[in-house]
Amino acid sequence: MNNYHFNKRVLVTGGAGFLGSHLCEALLQRDCDVLCVDILFTGRRGNVAHLLDNPRFEILRHDVTFPLFAEVDEIYNLACPASPIHYQHDPVQTTKTSVIGAINMLGLAKRVGAKIFQASTSEVYGDPDIHPQPESYWGRVNPIGTRSCYDEGKRCAETLFFDYNRQNRVKIKVARIFNTYGPRMHPNDGRVVSNFIMQALRGEPITIYGSGKQTRSFCYVDDLIRGLLKLMDSPDEITGPVNLGNPGEFTMLELAETVIKLTSSKSALIFKPLPADDPRQRQPDIAQAKAKLGWEPKIPLEEGLKQTIQYFKPYA
Ligand code: NAD
Ligand code: UDP
Repeated sequence: MNNYHFNKRVLVTGGAGFLGSHLCEALLQRDCDVLCVDILFTGRRGNVAHLLDNPRFEILRHDVTFPLFAEVDEIYNLACPASPIHYQHDPVQTTKTSVIGAINMLGLAKRVGAKIFQASTSEVYGDPDIHPQPESYWGRVNPIGTRSCYDEGKRCAETLFFDYNRQNRVKIKVARIFNTYGPRMHPNDGRVVSNFIMQALRGEPITIYGSGKQTRSFCYVDDLIRGLLKLMDSPDEITGPVNLGNPGEFTMLELAETVIKLTSSKSALIFKPLPADDPRQRQPDIAQAKAKLGWEPKIPLEEGLKQTIQYFKPYA
C-alpha cells in the first residue's frame, strides 16, 4: 500500500447481483473503496442504485472472461449466474465465466498481491450420498448433464484457486455457499424462494418440481454476508474451502406451506417434472465455519422469509 492510499480498495465481480450488491453495501459501510464489476446479465443496476452517490463506489460494465487491469487490495469473485434457469441459458458462457473468470481474477490477484475470495457452491457436492455435507466430501457430480456447466465450472475454479495458492502463493479464501435468499433476488430469477413468493403473492399456483420431498437448507443473505467478511478477515492460513449456509433443512413442500402461511395466500400447489440431476437433499455441515471463523447463521427461515416477502410485494 502506498502513502497516498488509506482505504482498502476492493473489487467485487458480480457486484450488481443479489449477493454482490449486499456485499458492496457492507464493504462501503467499512469505508472501503469498492469497484463493482458486472456484465448486468442476472444483476441489475437497480440493485446498486442507492450506492451510486457514494464517492467510494464505482460500477464498471465488464465481462470477467476478458482480462481486467485494476489496482486493488482485495477481490471478491462472485461473477456467475446462480439460478439453474439462467446458468443453463448459455452453458458455455457459464463455464467460461467460472473458469476463465477465475483465471483472470487470480492472475490479477497474483500481479497486484491482492487477497482473493471465491464464491463456490454446495453444487460441488452434486447429488450427495453423504448427509450433511462436510468440506472433506468430494461430491457426486454428473460431468455431462445440464447442471454440469455450473457444477464443474465451480469445481474447476476451486482447483485453480488452490493451484494459484500452491504455485504462486496467492492468498485465497474459498467459501462453499449453500442456498441463500433475501431481498434483491431477481423476481423472475427462477430459484425456488423467489418463485414461491411471487406465485403466492399473485395467487398463482405454486410450482413444486417432482414430489417436493427434496430438501434444501436456506440461509438469509445478512447471515451469509457476515460469513463472507469473516472468512476474508481470517488469518491467511485459513484458505477454506469452508461451508457457509444455514443447517435448517426443509422439503420444498414445507417451504411452500410456510410461504403460503406468511403471505396468507390462497394459492394451490401444482406438481411439475423434476429438472435433470436435481439434488435430493442438501444440508451444510458448518462445524469448520463455527470453529475457525466463529460464524453461524442467526436468522430463522420464517423471519428471513418475512423480510423477503416485503421486498417482493411491489413486484407482484
Ligand atoms: P446473481 O445471478 O444475482 O449474481 C451474479 C452476478 O454475476 C450478476 O450480477 C451477473 O450479471 C454477474 N455476471 C454473470 N456473468 C458475468 C461475467 N461473465 N462477467 C461479469 N459479471 C457477470 O447470483 P447470486 O445469488 O448473487 O450469486 C453470486 C455468486 O454466489 C455466484 O458466483 C454464485 O454461483 C454464488 N452462489 C450463490 C448462491 C445463492 O444461493 N445465492 C449459492 C451458492 C453460490
Ligand atoms: N423448485 C421447485 N419449484 C420451483 C423452483 C424450484 O420445486 O418453482 C425446486 C428445485 O427443483 C430444487 C429446489 O426447489 O429441488 C431448489 O431449487 P433452486 O433452483 O432454488 O436451487 P438449486 O438448489 O436446485 O440450485
